[in-house]
Amino acid sequence: MKRHNFNSGPSILPQEVLRKASEAIIDFNGLGLSILEIGHRTPWFTEVIEEARALVKELMGLDDTYSVLFLQGGATTQFMQVPLNLLPVGGQAAYIKNGIWGTKAIKEAEVFGKAVTVGDTSDRNHSYIQKNFTVDEGSSYLHYTSNNTVEGTQWHSLPAAGDTPLIADMSSDIFSRPAAFDKHALIYAGAQKNAGAAGATIVVIKNEILGKTGRNISPILDYQRHIKAASMLNTPPVFAVYVSLLTLRWIKDQGGLIEMEKRAQARADLFYAALDQLDVFKPLVEKEDRSLMNATFTTKNKDLEAPFLELCKQNGMVGVKGHRSVGGLRVSMYNAMPISSVQALVDLMTEFDKSK
Ligand code: PMP
Repeated sequence: MKRHNFNSGPSILPQEVLRKASEAIIDFNGLGLSILEIGHRTPWFTEVIEEARALVKELMGLDDTYSVLFLQGGATTQFMQVPLNLLPVGGQAAYIKNGIWGTKAIKEAEVFGKAVTVGDTSDRNHSYIQKNFTVDEGSSYLHYTSNNTVEGTQWHSLPAAGDTPLIADMSSDIFSRPAAFDKHALIYAGAQKNAGAAGATIVVIKNEILGKTGRNISPILDYQRHIKAASMLNTPPVFAVYVSLLTLRWIKDQGGLIEMEKRAQARADLFYAALDQLDVFKPLVEKEDRSLMNATFTTKNKDLEAPFLELCKQNGMVGVKGHRSVGGLRVSMYNAMPISSVQALVDLMTEFDKSK
């Protein structure tokens, strides 16, 4: 059966990436060794990680005032590592609360200091983005989630941070569009959506913001030490970094972030037009804040959700169920998703609508 992969993460990857990654498991670059069998300090792997780090900078248009790290522990570990490295002892930081991931980030920051919540959208189940808020002058940074994977909202402009350094969790929309990356002090993302396989976490840091907390930082969690060691403080997730490299090369070859955005817009336009037009379904978030990556919706009559999911299952549509914390329906349409899969889903939704 042909599958259409709407998983939210880990999620769809380009076929070419999967093919090259599987070849490298058997024989990496004709070495007669698997990528899984080579040391991380060999020139074979240092070339991989250096090219991957350089491609992140190139795609984001960043200069050498930024460093790129490939770490482990997922975006969730960054919820902790960011305040540990950047929230000064006795200081405070501002956190936008517009989804479950941002809320988790706040909990971690509270361990290290004062996390002031701004732009809180919990009053309406995070179904919109609150763009007007004030950041206290004494805040060391403003943290936001650029795309709310679970709720299906996305920032379509930068949050107004003023002079406060901006920090973004871009886990679910990194490399999906050009953005003012250089307006950020730090960007992080788990790789398992648009940037490769689970196991690698990308962290992009403006060097000058580090070393100011007055805190004794555990060496393995210290960004400065990771930068000095060129992401090799300990064994990096070798295979996951290689899959990221293949994915980054693919993005560049396809036309970079401008092309990724064009495709994302085309997929989202197709999907949301159907969602707005069909009687049986209804969207869950404000139109202007809709995510191009994760579309959340439901059926107007709750009883129709299960039969629709069953129809999806019969037709090879994977990952259409909403996140366990919010329910409903959700489709994720990351970089590697062909528009033909969105068309197939829209056709199925239209057929379902007609039958009701
Ligand atoms: N932030 C966002 C926006 C996410 O979508 C996710 C996971 N899907 C996370 C953080 C947590 O990532 P991880 O599981 O890699 O820790």
